[in-house]
Amino acid sequence: MVDFARIADLWATFPRGEGLFFHLGKLIGYIVIYLCWVKFVAWLDRDAKTFGMPSYWTPIAASVAFLSLLSFWIFPFYWLSVVLSLLLLLSPLIIYAQKRNEEVPPALTILTVEHIKRVARRNFGLKIGSKSKDTLKTIPVKFLGKAGEGKGSQSEGYRGAQELIWLAVQRRATDIHMEPTREGMQIRFRIDGILQPVKDFDTDRGTVVLNVYKNLAALDIAEKRKPQDGSFSAEVEERTVDFRVATSGSVHGEKMVIRLLDSSRQMKSLTEVGLREVLRRKIEPILDQSNGLLITCGPTGAGKTSTLYACLNQIDRFSRNVITLENPVEYMIDNVTQIEVNTKAGKTFAAELRSMLRQDPDVILVGEVRDAETAEIACQAAQTGHLVLTTLHANDAVTALGRLIDLGVKPFLVASSVTAILSQRLVRVLCAKCRVPCDPVPEVVQRLKLPAGKGKFFKPTIVKGADKETCSRCQGMGYVGRTGIFELLVLTDEIRSLLKENPDLGAIRQVAMKSGYFTLMDDGYRKVAEGITTLEEIQRAAS
Ligand SMILES: [Zn+2]
Repeated sequence: MVDFARIADLWATFPRGEGLFFHLGKLIGYIVIYLCWVKFVAWLDRDAKTFGMPSYWTPIAASVAFLSLLSFWIFPFYWLSVVLSLLLLLSPLIIYAQKRNEEVPPALTILTVEHIKRVARRNFGLKIGSKSKDTLKTIPVKFLGKAGEGKGSQSEGYRGAQELIWLAVQRRATDIHMEPTREGMQIRFRIDGILQPVKDFDTDRGTVVLNVYKNLAALDIAEKRKPQDGSFSAEVEERTVDFRVATSGSVHGEKMVIRLLDSSRQMKSLTEVGLREVLRRKIEPILDQSNGLLITCGPTGAGKTSTLYACLNQIDRFSRNVITLENPVEYMIDNVTQIEVNTKAGKTFAAELRSMLRQDPDVILVGEVRDAETAEIACQAAQTGHLVLTTLHANDAVTALGRLIDLGVKPFLVASSVTAILSQRLVRVLCAKCRVPCDPVPEVVQRLKLPAGKGKFFKPTIVKGADKETCSRCQGMGYVGRTGIFELLVLTDEIRSLLKENPDLGAIRQVAMKSGYFTLMDDGYRKVAEGITTLEEIQRAAS
């Protein structure tokens, strides 16, 4: 007799017999491997078509995956199946990658050391090893925005524009000058504050490259005489760099100046801007105070702003509410509210500063004080529970006090709000790789009263002409980077009362000198005797 009940039971549990047990973790593991396979086959199919690889690769990869699936069913040992599946899936991938790498350019290879470096750079911003030669072939400059893409992006002019930016970044230039001459277009870079000729374009190429920049900055291409200005951005080696462009007409045609603003560059510390320990120990307690006005002063390009940021770097930005008012924003800083004053839109520093005070700041950084209203608000804020940091265009610390009064701030207000003034200049730093020792400089020895044999004096090795072998660190310029020379005036009670009664700068200077005022030249001479820079640099900076 047929046992229908038994058959029904077996049928109900077909094909794996009784029980409904399964291991969730193992099942997920299987699904993950399966999904990887789906993704791999899809990628391989696309990739093989792109690079014209034989069409049998897709069915091979697909059938191998079928075998791996089968292995889970056949073998009762889960982990053996996992290993087997992975081997089955990886082997066609490795063989395919090898065949493929023979066909494609080096920059597109996969599963190679180069590939891993590329992925690491892209995902983690890592730099493994040195820059290989093929980075020159593919210039790591990508213009951002609408004008950066599209039909023009493969043209000769576009590539020329990329090359010039790349060269400027590599040479640490802060400005690119493109000036038409009778013969062609002269290109100069400002490096460490000094304009250096770099290369020349012929007129045609120069005009094409200049027009690429005009296009990127959304300027009127047809207008070649009237001054225009604009900006654009580019991704340079995974960093975003902003460029401010200004054009104007000249005798030989249109000229252009491009300023590079690297927003990813790091804020420096007080030591890094060149402030020696003696001065640092005087500045630090001033930055801990909850009110007062600290001014950095000097002419344009003296490094005032960098020093101001170094001061900000010293401040605890977690426990204090820090707000900055800048034009333009030069560094991005964490835990700080940064406001860019748009003077073109009719906004003023004074108006912005007034509205900013309502946000209950503890520390305020004002990019620059150049009008009476801003100066007065800054002084008042410094007296009412805010630490105010700012820059002022003045040649030395004592003159800066006079400048505030000239702007129209009442002497008693200056006297009661200003805490200290740091005056500075930038000097170039000797290239440590190629500097050579030299005899002590008599002027420096005398001024610092150095005993015989004290001090380390160096001079630069300056190589002229392109054919000579140049130092790889400074490209034969003899200097790399810049450092500050400083003088610090901390306002004493004596100086304050002098200011209030009768603001006579001469008298203030005399009092300051008596209290051990450390002048700009003193600091400069010391840096010469320390082998950091040269007397020529100090004289150039101080003149
Ligand atoms: Zn050198």
